[in-house]
Amino acid sequence: MSKKVHVFNAGPCLLPQEAIDSAIAALKDFKGTGISVLSVSHRTKEWEETMDECRALWKELLNIPDTHEVVFLGGGASLQFLYVAMNFLEKKAAYLDTGVWAHKALQQAQGIGEAYAIACSADKNYTYIPKGYEIPKDIDYLHITTNNTIYGTEIKEDYDCPVPLIADMSSDIMSRPVDVSKYDLIYGGAQKNVGPAGVVFAIIRKDALGKVSRYIPTMLDYRTHIDKGSMFNTPPVFAIYIMTETLRWLKSIGGIPAIQKRNQEKAALLYGEIDRNSMFVGTAAKEDRSLMNVCFVMAPGKEDLQDEFMAFAKAQGMVGIKGHRSVGGFRASLYNACTLEDVQALVDCMKEFEKLHC
Ligand SMILES: *Cc1c(COP(=O)(O)O)cnc(C)c1O
Repeated sequence: MSKKVHVFNAGPCLLPQEAIDSAIAALKDFKGTGISVLSVSHRTKEWEETMDECRALWKELLNIPDTHEVVFLGGGASLQFLYVAMNFLEKKAAYLDTGVWAHKALQQAQGIGEAYAIACSADKNYTYIPKGYEIPKDIDYLHITTNNTIYGTEIKEDYDCPVPLIADMSSDIMSRPVDVSKYDLIYGGAQKNVGPAGVVFAIIRKDALGKVSRYIPTMLDYRTHIDKGSMFNTPPVFAIYIMTETLRWLKSIGGIPAIQKRNQEKAALLYGEIDRNSMFVGTAAKEDRSLMNVCFVMAPGKEDLQDEFMAFAKAQGMVGIKGHRSVGGFRASLYNACTLEDVQALVDCMKEFEKLHC
């Protein structure tokens, strides 16, 4: 038995033990073929079944309508920043600049065409989601980042948008129900909530493609991957396998409504403690607090206890709670596989630390 730890890593994320166990078995023997999943040909019936199951689970869990298709690609969410502009930017695009990732997405688009920040929360170190800005009707799309992994803010509802809406959902996909019909594109890296690093998902409104006049290189054209069922080139087989097992687990526990409830409970428990505990304060604006990444710092006057709390928490088995260097303090990522018990352990640790110091 390995050491008891509570993993709050921001990504790659904790994955359900069921998925890890299936992966161990498949590393030795993929579906009774006698071959490791690492060596199985992606052109076999056994692999195609896994690919089909993965696609079907995505469609079922997220209620993806027939107007949309889901594809699995390599290159990380960061390469999707370029795909977005290549496939959708004709005249002008607007980006909601809510953090480092949103800003990087904007910068990639600016290398392709005209793109600008429609609103930006950098004035307060990205601790809130801008609201009330005017969306012009003549833009190709509005790009949003629904969950800001580094700053712990989240857009928790699906916007009604007068222009095509594109969303980076890397770090909150499958954490809550999403009305996919409201988006022309939803994409993200799997490693924050649905699988290991190495695979990306993109859910695309099929009839929104083919409207730009530029030449799109074959590999960067979503149509290539839709036409070939994500098998134009060798897919990231092992990453897709583990993602499939992770989604199977999600379905087995009741799907998205069930996980949303768990995620709400976990976040309420931790934010409740942050607000109660005199040693800590949250950094994100309350109404925009992320259910996935909870950011907090030492309370004013207690700043010099930061290293001590980090060491104290580490000794109690807490892993991955150091805040991103651009925010400091602490960040606990409460992705789907993180349990209420894990969060309770962190909360207990915070309570004990407070007792030690008053
Ligand atoms: C992590 C992250 C990215 C970058 O993902 P890579 O797969 O490492 O390129 C992009 N957007 C968001 C919201 C993220 O959390």
